[in-house]
Amino acid sequence: MIAVVKDSATKEQVAHFVDWIESKGLSADISRGAGETIIGLVGDTTQIDPFLVESMDIIDRVQRVSEPFKKANRKFHPLDTVIDCGHGVLVGGGHFQVIAGPCSVEGENLLRIAREVKAAGATMLRGGAYKPRTSPYSYQGMGEEGLDLLREAGDELDMPIVTEIMDPRDVQKFLDRNIEVWQIGARNSQNFPLLKEVGKTQVPILLKRGIAGTIDELLMAAEYVMSEGNPNVIVCERGIRSFERRTRNTFDLNAVPVLHGLTHLPVCADPSHATGYTRYVTPMALAATAAGADCLEIEVHDDPSHAWSDGAQALTPAQFKDAMARIAKVREAVTMEVE
Ligand code: PEP
Ligand code: MN
Repeated sequence: MIAVVKDSATKEQVAHFVDWIESKGLSADISRGAGETIIGLVGDTTQIDPFLVESMDIIDRVQRVSEPFKKANRKFHPLDTVIDCGHGVLVGGGHFQVIAGPCSVEGENLLRIAREVKAAGATMLRGGAYKPRTSPYSYQGMGEEGLDLLREAGDELDMPIVTEIMDPRDVQKFLDRNIEVWQIGARNSQNFPLLKEVGKTQVPILLKRGIAGTIDELLMAAEYVMSEGNPNVIVCERGIRSFERRTRNTFDLNAVPVLHGLTHLPVCADPSHATGYTRYVTPMALAATAAGADCLEIEVHDDPSHAWSDGAQALTPAQFKDAMARIAKVREAVTMEVE
């Protein structure tokens, strides 16, 4: 349920209303913006009489929110959320960023690749230190050593780093190294204990859609993180499993505008995992940009045929540079004013 507060309401009256909400065992989510203050009532609102709330002096109107995701819902926060990823990098609400780097952290080549992607215009560096592999016999990632390499590269290049956390027991390792953005991968999109654990921090979370996850399931996963107190979630479309076999996944670009309608959270798109093949990554990065993504995540490797994971979908630094120039043109086209 949301209550739209009258312009005439004083701070004291709003605080009093919040106390009342809390006395009912609910929490209040306050969003000020665009000339309106909206208070979301989060929790079991079945016992709350909307007519009683609407009859209160300071309340303009009340609306039931039927969707099960509340804090992630645009009805609660009409304005886009802007997430501060550190190093001056903002995502959402018109701030567009590109995350790039290798699938896995492999060693010294990370810094080399990082320099190249930064020079081409990437603003955040990615690389997996903990890899969710389908086979237990595949490369599992460098672990803590990989986190240290990422930290060094991030510091040297003054870039936020984005890397996947798979295990709630690793939270302290990520905090100790000030990892700026924690990725929750497709395979862990509904790992509820992990979502709750990262929700206890304030670290920006790049939350990917599950391999066969619906848009609503993605939003409920975001809600898990937010319900624990962390509002900093970027949702990410990375392709879903379908009957189509010509690409690794089916890039559901519908999800970009659909998510923008349903949530105020920034929306990222990952054309690398969505397509699985280098030759499709640039065209689909452009398509995702045109569809209104706030952020792209693209895998780049300087020797794709020897990459330890996902070489088949990696762009070389030269291909990435070309993609970035085209992405900038598409951004210009989609953000221009039309008479
Ligand atoms: C990755 O980013 O390397 C990754 C494993 O992504 P996803 O979880 O989308 O498969
Ligand atoms: Mn990968």
